[in-house]
Amino acid sequence: MEMPKVDPFTLAKKDRLIARLSEVLPEDAIIHAVEETRAYECDALTAYKCPPLAAVLPRSTLEVSAVLKICHEMDIPVVPRGSGTSLAGGALPTADSVILGVARLTDVLEVDYDDRIIRLQTGRTNLSVTGAVEADGFFYAPDPSSQLACAIAGNIGMNSGGAHCLKYGVTTNNLLGVTLVQMDGTVVEIGGAHMDSAGMDLLGVVCGSEGQLGVVTEATLRILPKPEGARPVLMAFDDNETAGACVADIIKAGVLPVAIEFMDRPVIRATEAFAKAGYPDAEALLIVEVEGSEDEIDEQLEVIEKIARSHNPVELRRSTSEAESAAIWLGRKSAFGAMGQINDYMCLDGTIPVSELPVVLRGIGELSKKYGLDVGNVFHAGDGNMHPLILFDANKPGDLELCEEMGAEILKLCVEVGGCLTGEHGVGVEKRDLMHHQFNPGDMEAQLRIKDVFDPKWLLNPAKVFPLDVTAARRG
Ligand SMILES: Cc1cc2nc3c(=O)[nH]c(=O)nc-3n(C[C@H](O)[C@H](O)[C@H](O)COP(=O)(O)OP(=O)(O)OC[C@H]3O[C@@H](n4cnc5c(N)ncnc54)[C@H](O)[C@@H]3O)c2cc1C
Repeated sequence: MEMPKVDPFTLAKKDRLIARLSEVLPEDAIIHAVEETRAYECDALTAYKCPPLAAVLPRSTLEVSAVLKICHEMDIPVVPRGSGTSLAGGALPTADSVILGVARLTDVLEVDYDDRIIRLQTGRTNLSVTGAVEADGFFYAPDPSSQLACAIAGNIGMNSGGAHCLKYGVTTNNLLGVTLVQMDGTVVEIGGAHMDSAGMDLLGVVCGSEGQLGVVTEATLRILPKPEGARPVLMAFDDNETAGACVADIIKAGVLPVAIEFMDRPVIRATEAFAKAGYPDAEALLIVEVEGSEDEIDEQLEVIEKIARSHNPVELRRSTSEAESAAIWLGRKSAFGAMGQINDYMCLDGTIPVSELPVVLRGIGELSKKYGLDVGNVFHAGDGNMHPLILFDANKPGDLELCEEMGAEILKLCVEVGGCLTGEHGVGVEKRDLMHHQFNPGDMEAQLRIKDVFDPKWLLNPAKVFPLDVTAARRG
């Protein structure tokens, strides 16, 4: 592949930049050889690629601050990066930018079981947070399917969720405080170690801000005692809409499962071939999990199964062992990977009111016919967070563009029924130009002003989140 051309002015600036970075970082923390920068040319949205000017891997908040100060003085854009698993192009570089990766910031700084908190550097992976406390009977609740790889930094950037967020909430509900380095190098502490903190709720602003406001280097997270027990039940149906209606009825009934996950036939088949989870061969499958003591589990499952029966499931099967439960979840967590083995796909991320699930699933089916592109659905149904996977052929000219057009129609449908463009993957580059469909000019202006305050030169994570026309007008 031919590398994009970088103009001579930028190349001269790059030489000066590397010289200055070398004053504050060791040699092995600066990646600037053109071939090596390719490792950072994209995230998990691989349809878009662009190698950065350079990448840096600092080891402390002080080093992050020094890097940002230099880039600020030299007017060089910076793209914060965790593990690069964003499905929205959130960590995609521009040719004139520096990738600031936190992969080497992995220390646990404090664990306090009395106050149920863990403080750590944000390069640590999501799963390794639970890994640090599980021997003592605790866990960290937000569980993105990418949790083996994704970093707490990116979870905060995208306000990530996961299967069990129906009960425990998403990242913002489990985040207590952060250390944020601003673009000019200033280090600020936001939030604290408790549920509430003095001053304005800036933590709520930072969580989910997609690297637009600063670089988060440390975080204080809430940890929880492991539940006594948990059990999933599999429910298979003849069609997607009936499964959607069943979810809506479970939520309406007021029982609170920890998770309600949905998969349709293409995803069930791909996942079963990949992970051998023991899923029934059906049009639609729900995994509903409840937690508690044995008695509590039985009580909740009885209510839930009664609702399921009223929708005539083709199969209703409670897990009978820990091994069976683990296989059911391994299947679900492998679903995206399993689909990726058989096809190129674009993973959408819209959220809708749960009562609208049958309507939107029908709409997706109609759009699939209109565009001639197959769709696999696998998503967190309990909180209405949909992930249609549109299948396309990356080698077929025009297929990606068709897929993008269809994706935009699906997301607009989510907004039309009272939902929003993103549940947990963020806006990134993928949905930035659809923001006009979600926000009126006044709403958008309020967000732009927040960006102005934190990053007046608009250097952080360029070309993301805000529509390009809006950004261009802002920067003049
Ligand atoms: C197979 C697969 C399954 C997935 N499943 C889920 C799921 O169930 N739930 C879910 O929510 N997501 C899921 N994702 C999406 C992705 O894993 C999440 O968005 C995750 O939080 C990204 O983390 P990361 O460390 O890879 O961040 P990156 O991709 O590196 O970055 C994500 C965003 O955060 C910003 N950012 C990164 N580091 C910092 C920092 N230090 N300070 C400020 N901003 C920063 C970036 O600029 C970018 O905008 C999945 C992805 C894949 C590939």
